[in-house]
Amino acid sequence: MVRRIWLIILAFGWVLSSAGFAGAQTSAPQPDLSKLADEAQGWLADLVKINTVNPPGNESATAKYISAIFQKEGISNEVLEMAPGRSIVIARLQAGPLADPTNALLLVAHQDTVGVDPKKWSMDPFAAVVREGYLYGRGSIDDKAMLTANIATMVELKRTRARLGRDVLFLATDDEEQGGPASIKNTIQKYWDKIACAYALNEGGRVIVKDGKVQYVGIQASEKVAYNVTVTATGPSGHGSMPRPESAVVHLATAIEKLGTYQVPAQPSTITLRYFEQLAKVEDDDTAKWMRALEQPARTDLAYKHLSEMSPMWNSMLRDTIAPTMLQAGVRVNVIPSEATANLNVRMLPGHSIDELIGQFGKIVNDPQIRFQLAPDSGENAPPSEITSPLYQTIERLTPQEFPGAVSVPLLGTGATDSASLRLHKVQAYGLEPFPLTEEDYSRVHGDEERMSVDGFHKGVIFLYHVVATFASSK
Ligand SMILES: [Zn+2]
Repeated sequence: MVRRIWLIILAFGWVLSSAGFAGAQTSAPQPDLSKLADEAQGWLADLVKINTVNPPGNESATAKYISAIFQKEGISNEVLEMAPGRSIVIARLQAGPLADPTNALLLVAHQDTVGVDPKKWSMDPFAAVVREGYLYGRGSIDDKAMLTANIATMVELKRTRARLGRDVLFLATDDEEQGGPASIKNTIQKYWDKIACAYALNEGGRVIVKDGKVQYVGIQASEKVAYNVTVTATGPSGHGSMPRPESAVVHLATAIEKLGTYQVPAQPSTITLRYFEQLAKVEDDDTAKWMRALEQPARTDLAYKHLSEMSPMWNSMLRDTIAPTMLQAGVRVNVIPSEATANLNVRMLPGHSIDELIGQFGKIVNDPQIRFQLAPDSGENAPPSEITSPLYQTIERLTPQEFPGAVSVPLLGTGATDSASLRLHKVQAYGLEPFPLTEEDYSRVHGDEERMSVDGFHKGVIFLYHVVATFASSK
């Protein structure tokens, strides 16, 4: 009973302080998105200047910065420590007096970045230098741009006292690049009640600019699963002056040659087929011809071959892939070692079984001196998100309004993101990197002189706001 009275008081308090009630007294300010994007560019520059290279991450510094923005805007938020020096930020805008995770939307971005090789940069990677229309810096795309656009969206919804049909939550994660103890997996384990949601927007999508205009908006709805397999060859050791054919090094080399050139048969998912079908509408005729051939049973094999040759990404979207990445053997130049090892980085289509593939490896290599072992760092094998959900459809609908002539395409990400962990919690999670950028801009992610187009950033902040505001106003 006492509890019920408290709930009534709580609900009444919410009505008094809510956007709806305040809006009845003074008219709510209209969104000024161009001003918001300018302000957000300042936040992006500040976040790039805070070094969060992982390891060690040091995300507590960015968490503090983000929390201060929310504090100033009156947005309820929490900074939670995941490990010493590593904190996440959770913020929320609620539609009603009580949190309702059943239709809530979560905006996710990670605060950490990969490292830099400063010799390869012509500027300080942590100075947020603006040159010829680009803001340079580690994290300027991955993922501080998305992080900033998420902050901007929360701020503008709050400032304009937007009427929400669902809760909008914000999460700034740690340790995405290494997936260690501070990563989203543990955040979900420890704090699921604080971030429970039905939908999420995260990195992993892309808005691709070709010949000066937006060609397509890629919405990541699924991702491949990463595994590492250790290949070990054993053989007799001995003096380098007396080689033997059973040498571990020779056997390993032969095995790697076979596996490194082996192509797993193509098995495109519904998402990948839809991706090519949509992309065919905006690609040049020569390329589009092979994308359309996927729908003609007599020509699919030829289409797989051509598309795989045209782009390593398309090859990876069509099939499980095997990449030898490390080799190790020997301690002296004149000693034949008794053991040699290699690492295979394997990327599987979601739902496929790594054990079955390792079974295949044994048959392909067919060598009793070789054995395979799965490393314990497997990725999360999550089901795809639906490409018919109301959130997906909102992005689909807004795409041509925002970028005339562009199509939206579902993406199967070849890399891994935080979305897989959310999908395992029944969240319809999508990658939407809302900033119009060229393939060349994207190629700098994790590379040298990463940079964000200033114009692309502004358009992306506005696009994300439109998507979230439209979706959040519905129930
Ligand atoms: Zn990232």
